[in-house]
Amino acid sequence: MQFEHKEALEALESTLSEKNDVVTIHEQTSQQLAALQKKLEEREQRVEILQAELDHLNQALSSDLRRKDEEVCEQAAALAEKAELVKELQSQLAEAEALHASSSQQLQQQLKEKVETLERLEEELAQYRSEASSNDVEFHKTKAELSALLHKWQEVEETNRTLQEERDSLKLAGEDLQGQLDAARKQLASTIDEKTSAIDELRNQLESAKSSLQHERETSNYKISDLSKDLDREVGEKRTMQVRLEAQDEKIGDMKALLAVCQSQLESRTAEVQKLEARAQQRDKEVEDLRSQLMTLESERASAQSRMQAAEEDADAQKALVTSLKEQVLDLKQKLAKAEGLRRRLHNELQELKGNIRVFARVRPSSERSVVGVDEELGTVMVPHNGQSNGFRFDRVFPAMSSQEDVFSEVSQFVQSALDGYNVSLFAYGQTGSGKTHTMFGSREDQGIIPRSMGQILGGVEGMRESGWEYQLEASFLEIYQEHVRDLLCAEEEREGKKYTITLGENGRHDVSDLIYRRVRTMEDVEEMMAEAERNKSIAKTDMNERSSRSHTVFSMRITGRKAGVGGQQQALHGTLHLVDLAGSERLAKSHATGERLKETQAINKSLSALSDVFVALSKKSPHVPYRNSKLTFLLQPCLSGDGKALLIANCSPIETSSHETLCTLRFASMVSSCELGKVSSRGGGGGGGGE
Ligand code: ADP
Ligand code: MG
Repeated sequence: MQFEHKEALEALESTLSEKNDVVTIHEQTSQQLAALQKKLEEREQRVEILQAELDHLNQALSSDLRRKDEEVCEQAAALAEKAELVKELQSQLAEAEALHASSSQQLQQQLKEKVETLERLEEELAQYRSEASSNDVEFHKTKAELSALLHKWQEVEETNRTLQEERDSLKLAGEDLQGQLDAARKQLASTIDEKTSAIDELRNQLESAKSSLQHERETSNYKISDLSKDLDREVGEKRTMQVRLEAQDEKIGDMKALLAVCQSQLESRTAEVQKLEARAQQRDKEVEDLRSQLMTLESERASAQSRMQAAEEDADAQKALVTSLKEQVLDLKQKLAKAEGLRRRLHNELQELKGNIRVFARVRPSSERSVVGVDEELGTVMVPHNGQSNGFRFDRVFPAMSSQEDVFSEVSQFVQSALDGYNVSLFAYGQTGSGKTHTMFGSREDQGIIPRSMGQILGGVEGMRESGWEYQLEASFLEIYQEHVRDLLCAEEEREGKKYTITLGENGRHDVSDLIYRRVRTMEDVEEMMAEAERNKSIAKTDMNERSSRSHTVFSMRITGRKAGVGGQQQALHGTLHLVDLAGSERLAKSHATGERLKETQAINKSLSALSDVFVALSKKSPHVPYRNSKLTFLLQPCLSGDGKALLIANCSPIETSSHETLCTLRFASMVSSCELGKVSSRGGGGGGGGE
């Protein structure tokens, strides 16, 4: 934009320099006009001299005429002759005058035309002046110069007119002279002859004067033509100037157009600038707003910072509090651990006080008349048989209306002992149909001891985790039939080659080789195991009817608890819980089988007999307990000796037809009830009593 303005300025400057050139040309023209004026003045002086000479000549002629009046009269006759000559001369003069008049007229015409041209030029100039107001000053100057030139021309014309007047006066003088000549003609007629020579001389003089006058006139005409040429040139120059002016005007027009474009651009730019200014104002406002927001934010930040500082201080205080609380918690944990150990010891002492082998009796409900009397408070069961009433006392007795929950509330102490690191076994004893399976497994709606124990263990493990104990639970499910171990978690086709030998294992436990142990973390795991065992049992059922009554079902759980103790020492608990659904006890008494069947029955019953033998030995405090006589007793040996704990639930049928079997069951249970486990501390590695 600026560049364009600069270009326009440069163009204007060049125009101005051109105008200056025109001015110098005008000045030169003025000088030339001045020279012409000087020449005209000289010519006027010459005309004056000529006039003086003419005056002198007239005076001389007058005197001569006066002198010659007489001679004229005398020469009148001669003059008459000469008159013709004069007439002729006069006609020649008239011709010359006419010629001069015509040439003068032509000149005047030309002058008039020039003046008209000048006037037109003037008009055009006036137009240009109005159009190009910026060039007014130069125009005025030019106009003034032109008007001066015109004025000079008018002066030249005036001079010319004066010359013409002079010529007219000369003519008049000539006419006067003619008159005088006419008057004197008569006088001179006589003297004409005499004077002819004088007249001839005079004529010669006149002729020469005329010729000189003619010459002067011609010179004047030349000068006029020169002046005319000058004027033409001037006009040409004017035209050139005009052309230049036009060109300049064009340039000016172009420049004006350019200026208009520039103006429009400037306007658009101005509008843009205004827009930008408006936007800038908007931005300024926004910036102002943002600044105020920033200030607000900064003040907020400052307050937030102060709050944060306060919060940090608070946090420090809280940290200190947390540290002290942690210390307290640690202290409490230690106390809790001690308390937990104490609880375990006390619990165990209580269990020992209650007896490591305990016996409960449970009578199942029946639609038939019940002959078994149960006194819950006294813990007695009365069974009439052969007209005799047989009474028994146990640690707990459960009448028919007792729920699974009632039973488990007493059983749960044993489960707790297993969690505390003891080897615990629970037996359901009794004739077929007395409710053993119901008591141990129950149904989905009315869960028995096994699922309830699992729930208690899983809950206990969760609770102990808070005290830093991590537990590992592994479960197995087996069946002992005719002294053969059958893994219920192993499918029939996968049992090939598996021995299931029972050996004395680590941590006071007995291991079964090849037996599958499943990790238990949730109740779903337990349910899945049960379902799997059920599936494997059903396959077996097809070829072995009533087998479940003639075999022992053992659900076992290994409970291993570990806790990082003070000084990197690790505490460990190794408990075992065996939940046993025993084979029907009636076979011991009611089997009247012989031959092969007897052999089978004897084999089936061997483990129950072995169990009975173990309890008999224990009750008699026999130095030898025959654990190895059966797989079941050998497997359960850790629970039936030392710190082990055993619970036998004697299930009874209340109906009269079962009273003998009920009596047998209760006698067996009574015998077990009198047993005590010898305190044998042979469980290195921490089992029994807390594992410390
Ligand atoms: P067992 O396993 O000793 O052969 P079951 O547990 O199979 O005997 O019980 C025989 C029947 O008696 C089953 O139908 C069982 O549901 C039922 N029964 C046993 N005990 C109870 C009880 N306490 N309450 C309700 N029903 C019982
Ligand atoms: Mg059963």
